[in-house]
Amino acid sequence: MMGKVSEIREQVDVCVVGAGHAGCEAALACARLGLETVVFTVSVDSIALMPCNPNIGGSSKGHLVREVDALGGEMGKNIDRTFIQSKMLNVSKGPAVHSLRAQADKADYTRQMRKVLENQEHLTVKQAEVCELLWTQQDDKKKVTGVKTFTGAIYECRAVVLCTGTYLKARCLCGESITYTGPNGLQAANYLPDSLREMGIELRRFKTGTPARMDGRSIDYSKMEEQFGDERIVPFSFSTDPESIQKPQVSCWLTYTNERTHEIIRDNLDRSPIYAGIIEGTGPRYCPSIEDKVVKFADKDRHQVFIEPEGLCTNEMYVGGMSSSLPEDVQLAMYRTVPGLENCKIVRNAYAIEYDCINARQLFPTLEFKEVKGLFSGGQFNGSSGYEEAAAQGLIAGINAAMSILEKEPLILDRSESYIGVLIDDLVTKDNREPYRMMTSRAEYRLLLRQDNADLRLRKKGYEVGLISQTDYERLLVKEELIDREIRRLKSHIVGAGQEMQNFLMAHGSSALKTGSSLAELICRPELNYEILAPIDTDRPILPRDVVEQVEIEIKYEGYIMRQLRQVEQYKKMEKKKIPQDIDYDAISSLRLEARQKLKEFRPISLGQASRISGVSPADISVLLIYLERRNQSETEIKL
Ligand SMILES: Cc1cc2nc3c(=O)[nH]c(=O)nc-3n(C[C@H](O)[C@H](O)[C@H](O)COP(=O)(O)OP(=O)(O)OC[C@H]3O[C@@H](n4cnc5c(N)ncnc54)[C@H](O)[C@@H]3O)c2cc1C
Repeated sequence: MMGKVSEIREQVDVCVVGAGHAGCEAALACARLGLETVVFTVSVDSIALMPCNPNIGGSSKGHLVREVDALGGEMGKNIDRTFIQSKMLNVSKGPAVHSLRAQADKADYTRQMRKVLENQEHLTVKQAEVCELLWTQQDDKKKVTGVKTFTGAIYECRAVVLCTGTYLKARCLCGESITYTGPNGLQAANYLPDSLREMGIELRRFKTGTPARMDGRSIDYSKMEEQFGDERIVPFSFSTDPESIQKPQVSCWLTYTNERTHEIIRDNLDRSPIYAGIIEGTGPRYCPSIEDKVVKFADKDRHQVFIEPEGLCTNEMYVGGMSSSLPEDVQLAMYRTVPGLENCKIVRNAYAIEYDCINARQLFPTLEFKEVKGLFSGGQFNGSSGYEEAAAQGLIAGINAAMSILEKEPLILDRSESYIGVLIDDLVTKDNREPYRMMTSRAEYRLLLRQDNADLRLRKKGYEVGLISQTDYERLLVKEELIDREIRRLKSHIVGAGQEMQNFLMAHGSSALKTGSSLAELICRPELNYEILAPIDTDRPILPRDVVEQVEIEIKYEGYIMRQLRQVEQYKKMEKKKIPQDIDYDAISSLRLEARQKLKEFRPISLGQASRISGVSPADISVLLIYLERRNQSETEIKL
């Protein structure tokens, strides 16, 4: 399998396998917590590579980036350094779904992230394929002890974080032509899956796809709708000074497929590896290929196509909305039916990629393997899809690998605290049969989990694990104090119903006051807001924009927020009810058979997690609750 065995034998604290979006966050977290860390990649030129869409963020994904930043991760800062267009999405809707999305200069994104990794203390970047995990048996579990690379070099360590993305036994399909490579023709990683299987780790095949890249000079933009960035740019990172990123932006373009496009696709479905059954892996329902769209949404006479620049130093344009694995000639014919692409030249063909990944039910919410101590994983390898989902998991896996070595409490975020909590809980609790993509609809407490308050929700946790500096933490405390004080002031500041006030309200189309009212009550009126009230609120303090934003949302949505906080109380009660891992479900006779099987297979850590396992009914949860209470009682009596 491997070349002449290298004599190299290194000792470090953590080995991170993969320098994609997950691996970068995991490696930086471990190194920043003072642990000697090595991060492996098959090519150092592909650090934080964006093999698909040239943007970071978007609906719910923007929330994840903000949360990663609030906890001390790097993605938010890196996109603030390298964006070429920025837009706040869904601003016509409520703040819960406002989501930032930024177009990245892909080459610069990789360059800047590489620079951060290469200059991080305690971190070594290594171009080498990890082919084997080393481990020993410890009581009834395995314990990881190191990794071996293709050259036979051995890196002994106390924890390993697997972030291998779309590279394990990867193969790329473009019609009938198949290449056994990773994305963008990079080397696939073909040995590690066998080593994982030998350790009893279950693997499965997933797939995803990407559209073609066009030569921008061959595109006729006059036939498309130009899409502009926002005038005022909002940063992703809470540490980025908004004034420092106001700059000229590039445009994206909107066009559509048409019946001719759909006809070409329908006529060639037999040559599609998806429909010809060549592709084994399961693809993401929420990121369908154009073939899938034409077949599954046959009633639609057109689909949106977004033409997005890949960077400032290239003419390559990304054709968003038309990922495909149809043969090259069919691709050219179908793309050339799209208005503006009539004479397009394809720089890179569209293709689908298949790869090995795990069923994340093998993981605890810490992202550590249940059966292998010290082995953690994050990203696409866990069955998710997307740069942002990967970064979020990589950060948590990295933090918890470090916490396990430093013998500190692991960081587990729950569904009421963050989108990261929803993401990880869904991955490790639900039976995901396709790549998991985050959506706002997945977060039941989304009014509390807004992207604008990620720092207020998570920065303290980032500080407690040691990734947020004292200065940034104190800045947060000041912000919290300013928000509380201003809300209290607006609630206690009563304005009279005098003529001047009535004239002011009339001028803003707002109904007259019958008696005095607090400024907070006025802000709750849909036609009024904090800014509009400035003329009648003369002694207001000058506050930063982000503080004003919080004050306004907290006041305007107070009722909804309070209701959701009450729901969270109920939820937390169930999460707090821990289930001991040595529980014998077979001993609980009144549990239904299906529930017993699911609980034994799954071994949930709390009653809350048990209640989210499909096949475990509320009645089973009541049985379990009674059993646990009786068990606690008898244990207390024994102690007594
Ligand atoms: C063709 C394609 C289409 C995609 N389409 C979409 C889409 O439509 N929507 C979407 O949300 N996401 C899409 N993605 C997914 C997106 O790219 C990933 O979600 C994201 O890159 C995952 O990040 P990651 O860190 O988990 O893995 P990756 O970014 O894949 O990084 C994996 C890293 O692991 C390294 N590596 C792997 N195995 C080894 C080994 N054995 N030894 C050493 N290093 C190793 C690699 O060198 C690389 O650095 C697509 C990806 C591809 C390739």
